[in-house]
Amino acid sequence: MCGIVGYVGRAEAAPILLDGLRRLEYRGYDSAGVAIVDRGHLATRKCSGRIAALATLVAKRPLSGSFGVSHTRWATHGKVTDENAHPHFDASGKLALVHNGVIENYQALRDDLVRGGDTNFRSETDTEVLAHLIGKLYDESCASTVDVHQKKARLFAAVRAALQQVIGTYGIALVHADVPDFMIGARRGSPLVLGVGKDENFLASDVSAIVAYTRDAVYLNDFDIVAVERDKFEISSLAGESGDHQVSKVEFTAEDIKKGVYPHYMLKEIFEQPDSVRDAMRGRLSLEECTAKLGGLNMTPAQLRDVGRIVLMGCGTALHAGRVGEYLIERLANIPTEVEFAHEFRHRNTPMTPETLVFAISQSGETADTLGALRESRRKGFRTLGICNNVASTIARESDGGVYMHAGPEIGVAATKSFSSQVVILTLIGLLFGRMRNLSTAEGSRVIEALEALPEQIEIVLKLSDQIKAIAKKYADVNGLLFFGRQFNFPIALEGALKMKEITYLFAEGHPSAELKHGIIALVRPDLPSIFIAPDDAVFSKNLNNIEQVKARKGPIIALTSGNGVNQLKNIANEIISLPAAPDCVMPILTVIPLQLLAYHLAVELGRDVDKPRNLAKSVTVE
Ligand code: GLU
Repeated sequence: MCGIVGYVGRAEAAPILLDGLRRLEYRGYDSAGVAIVDRGHLATRKCSGRIAALATLVAKRPLSGSFGVSHTRWATHGKVTDENAHPHFDASGKLALVHNGVIENYQALRDDLVRGGDTNFRSETDTEVLAHLIGKLYDESCASTVDVHQKKARLFAAVRAALQQVIGTYGIALVHADVPDFMIGARRGSPLVLGVGKDENFLASDVSAIVAYTRDAVYLNDFDIVAVERDKFEISSLAGESGDHQVSKVEFTAEDIKKGVYPHYMLKEIFEQPDSVRDAMRGRLSLEECTAKLGGLNMTPAQLRDVGRIVLMGCGTALHAGRVGEYLIERLANIPTEVEFAHEFRHRNTPMTPETLVFAISQSGETADTLGALRESRRKGFRTLGICNNVASTIARESDGGVYMHAGPEIGVAATKSFSSQVVILTLIGLLFGRMRNLSTAEGSRVIEALEALPEQIEIVLKLSDQIKAIAKKYADVNGLLFFGRQFNFPIALEGALKMKEITYLFAEGHPSAELKHGIIALVRPDLPSIFIAPDDAVFSKNLNNIEQVKARKGPIIALTSGNGVNQLKNIANEIISLPAAPDCVMPILTVIPLQLLAYHLAVELGRDVDKPRNLAKSVTVE
């Protein structure tokens, strides 16, 4: 969500900053801006709308200079307007600041500034208040003439002093017209990474913005402040301590985040699932012991055996993966498992027993709500593990251990491959705990066989894309869609509806099939199709009853089924999507894919911007 790119080096900053912003574009934003210093003069271009509009502004009135900051904004305080777009400036107009996050006490800070005579605010944002505060502290400290080294030190001190007054979250980058070739970054709650180049350095909210320029990165921690120059950088904490920081190699290249032959990232990522699912289990299955090996949990066998309850936390798609996980872990390991919205968990008195193990699930590892819940859980003394894709993320670093998804970069805002990877990992967790408890070798090896068969079965499901596209065309004028499933496939109904809402903007709801008759059936009508996820499993005949109930009320039916289900539904369902047979516990990984494809094709049919759906952000780093 929202993005920061900063540069200090010898090259022209504008093309690098705009290129970086484009690479963050997938994350969702509503405005963009850039500010660059050229020989003591700070110039800016900013506007609401797409980066293409900003690029046009810059093309019309070019910006020169070799250090500057840029931003994509996802508005939290103040409307989406040109004035509210970042960068924001201090009262002197010499300091430019970009900010991700929320300054919660901005009103009190602003009141103080106004009382001190500063009334020159040009936007409605919380961010501008921080720019004014830093600028004021800096100007006061530079009242007498100072040399350039002192200016750097004083600007740094002003940032530190201002941030000490801030309540809230921030990732920031700033430059000052009077302080040449110098940039400052800081973070608390919003990610910020320093890219280390040769005679040039970068700041970015996500390493994918700068990976084309350098793969050497320092991931800043909360409360870090960094002073960045062309050939050096210095990190210290808000409290003034200097700490150790490692330069790590970014795992992926700029090539990995290209669309390739696909028209959209989302479609590319849907089609990557045979590989991403394989990578999620690679090296983690033990055929000999019929179990999973998850060394990253950092737990001894005795500790694993002591786990008496599991809590899975997440938001959005990750929460739905958790809901599948609840069924899986209870089935395979017989451990009471609960799923919690991370944001609800965080603020309520969830009863926790000492033997509870908590998992925080987040693709980006930066989801603010999930991070907050992780911190709350750890504060209360519970072992809290992460299930993340982004290896260098805050959740990965702050958890007691965990399991990486190894799914590769996910750019499409609507999560697809991260969901199947999360479900695979939760299956491995169920298998591991199960094999330490009740699960027999025979059952353990059946689960392993089913997992190993998945990549090929996913290939088969992906071949249905054209059939699903034809269905999407046929139903493009519907007024909404209902999704139903039972047991392992109830969460898939939720996920199918979420994908549909996210990228088609159609009304969509997911429910357990049996809920139909308890109220939802009132919605059934000819322009509202029901998608039934009804593979040939132990609850097929129950699903069949519900399908008949919809049919009797003239609701169109799109059925996902397998095996004998195809025959049984051929005279009932309007459309049948036939899936390969698989044991029920791995079926969700196969059933979710046609729903991802259905949402995708319907969105394309409706002319939606699939990779940049309105109002949405890829990783939600505000609360
Ligand atoms: N709170 C700031 C604003 O509304 C920053 C939002 C963002 O993270 O993009 O402008």
